Amino acid sequence: MRNVLITGSSRGIGAACAKVFAENGDRVFINYNNSEDAAVSLVNSLRKSGAECEMFRCDVSSPSEVRLMFNEIEDKFGGADILINNAGIAQFRLFTEITDDEWDRMIASDLSSVFYCCRAALPYMIRQHFGRIINISSMWGQVGGSCEVHYSAAKAGVIGLTKALAKEEGLSGITVNCISPGVIQTDMNSNLLPEDIEALKEETPTGTIGTPQDIARTALFLADKNSSFITGQVIGVNGGIVI
Ligand code: NAP
Repeated sequence: MRNVLITGSSRGIGAACAKVFAENGDRVFINYNNSEDAAVSLVNSLRKSGAECEMFRCDVSSPSEVRLMFNEIEDKFGGADILINNAGIAQFRLFTEITDDEWDRMIASDLSSVFYCCRAALPYMIRQHFGRIINISSMWGQVGGSCEVHYSAAKAGVIGLTKALAKEEGLSGITVNCISPGVIQTDMNSNLLPEDIEALKEETPTGTIGTPQDIARTALFLADKNSSFITGQVIGVNGGIVI
């Protein structure tokens, strides 16, 4: 049974990944920071359907908390075979109004967290000579989003980290890839008005916005042992809004 750690899996894309991997027969490690009730109810429903599933509270922007989470995973289960770095925050701000604290929080939550989790996960993967790291970036990391400069910078950093780490770990049986979502229906976009959503749909070749399951199914594909020749890639799952 594969062990799959999904950061930020109390809600949204992370929760969809947890369900899809659990349905696939994997042991799923749910990570949450604030949304304990949502995490508990997800764990209960996954267990009810027969899945093996554990829950870890950890703020992945904190290197010491990440260390503690991985220590617990290693003590109880050996390690994580698959790491999905999904946790993240977003913020809409004019560039000139971003404070030092907001900048630091964004970089810590959306980029440093990926560094901390990859660093903690790799020794086990290297020993197993197998690993799958899937980082959730964003189309804004590829093309830049107005009023989301700090978010775009962090997500572009995730793409750079992915490509460089893929080169370093290629001979260790570990692939490192990015999924770059377009607009996905989650709490992160709850600030968008219905007319904003309609405008985004019109801009998108498929005429739709995405679902968390669209991302989860792509992650499942990248995590497969037969996806071993795919590494260092940025897979856009965006309905064609960025090509
Ligand atoms: P969401 O619905 O807002 O959920 C975010 C998740 O991340 C929550 O489970 C939250 O946990 C967790 N999280 C945030 N900061 C954390 C931290 N420091 N430590 C641990 N967990 C943390 O967001 P989403 O739309 O599912 O987004 C998931 C990922 O996809 C993010 O990286 C986001 O940037 C990326 N993405 C989303 C979209 C989109 O349109 N939705 C597009 C492109 C990229 P708690 O609630 O427990 O704190």
